[in-house]
Amino acid sequence: MTVDKPAKNAQIHADGTLAVHAGRFLVPSNPPSSPPLFQASSYEFSDLTDVEDIYAGKRAGAIYGRYGGPNGGHFETAVAELEGASEAVGAASGMAAIAAALTTSLGPGEPIVCASELYGGTTALLENDFQLNGHRRIVVEISDHQAVGAALESSGSPVLYVEALSNPLLHVADLPALADIAHAAGACLIVDATFASPILCRPLHYGVDLVVHSVGKYLGGHGDVGAGVVSGSSARCGPIRQWLIRNGATIPHFEAWLALRGLRTLGLRMPRHSTNAAAVATYLTTVPAVAHVHHPSLPGHQQHALAQRLYPLGTGGIVAFDLLGDRGAVDAFVGSLEMIAIVHSLGEVATTISYSAASSHRLQSADERRRQGVTAATLRLSCGIEDARDIIADLNSAFERSLQHAGPAA
Ligand code: PLP
Repeated sequence: MTVDKPAKNAQIHADGTLAVHAGRFLVPSNPPSSPPLFQASSYEFSDLTDVEDIYAGKRAGAIYGRYGGPNGGHFETAVAELEGASEAVGAASGMAAIAAALTTSLGPGEPIVCASELYGGTTALLENDFQLNGHRRIVVEISDHQAVGAALESSGSPVLYVEALSNPLLHVADLPALADIAHAAGACLIVDATFASPILCRPLHYGVDLVVHSVGKYLGGHGDVGAGVVSGSSARCGPIRQWLIRNGATIPHFEAWLALRGLRTLGLRMPRHSTNAAAVATYLTTVPAVAHVHHPSLPGHQQHALAQRLYPLGTGGIVAFDLLGDRGAVDAFVGSLEMIAIVHSLGEVATTISYSAASSHRLQSADERRRQGVTAATLRLSCGIEDARDIIADLNSAFERSLQHAGPAA
């Protein structure tokens, strides 16, 4: 062991003072095999020159919790390497990452062109905080490339915002084409790739300018992290980091530590999530109680060919499906599941389910939900890493039980 922080030499008169300063902070001279958690919320400077040097970035060093710490830095460098980005910035949540990416890409009163299908929380952010502050929201159908180009050109918006795979119906964004369209109009393309993760899709490789993730989903993977991350060029990430620091929305140390721990198995989890989801989607097409299955692996899916081109390893664990019937059918079905829990998140190792009208799209009106294709009977299943046979068995017995509850048709 080496002593990194020397004991204080000052003469101490009282045990209470000794209790405050006693002991030696021993830092091992050989590196630990896994990252320690640096939970300290503040760091010491050797003198005021050191203060200036660290603030100016002339010397690496930590300052204060909200400015980030070693665990945040470790997680960010790992994400940047995975995304092929020059920089990544950790945030307190996916929403904080999205707000930071959008705010720093917009000038006063500039509009935002965005996809018609987005996570409900993002739509709520655009409608409330951005629209009310003068940033008009222009909604486009992103598979209509001509309409996207026209909306960007006519509005002069500096931002096109889309989800790589939309929540919850998995519309596939043609990222290379959209990046070209955005750049031709002088705009940047910001992509939420939460459903994909960098194992399945690296949006920056297609010319996307910024990619955001809700880290509590696939990156963390175990349902124990609340955090976000944005990756891109240092020119874009610098202002994002400063915005997050000013707004108190940087990634907390423990969340970064957990997120990095989860990230280590991402390469094993994502192909498994994907094959499970494809098997479940195929099974669901055979169930009479299911009206429609939304999954890009199905040959009938509108963007099946695009998904095969952009997602050779699969599209992750999400499968959305509409039951025949309405809320009553949904209640009977989800109430009959035994292994699969109702959870308002996704991307965890365990299979979970959510009722979109009550979860991801809760904040939208029924009309807005209908416009996005989310019906009163839409369920979003997040396939975990269990054996696909066990996921299908639980779904199958829930379908059988819920039919029994419903009784014979009148
Ligand atoms: N993006 C997508 C696609 C999401 O599904 C979510 C949350 O469910 C978010 C962003 C927001 O992330 P967070 O809950 O970490 O703020």
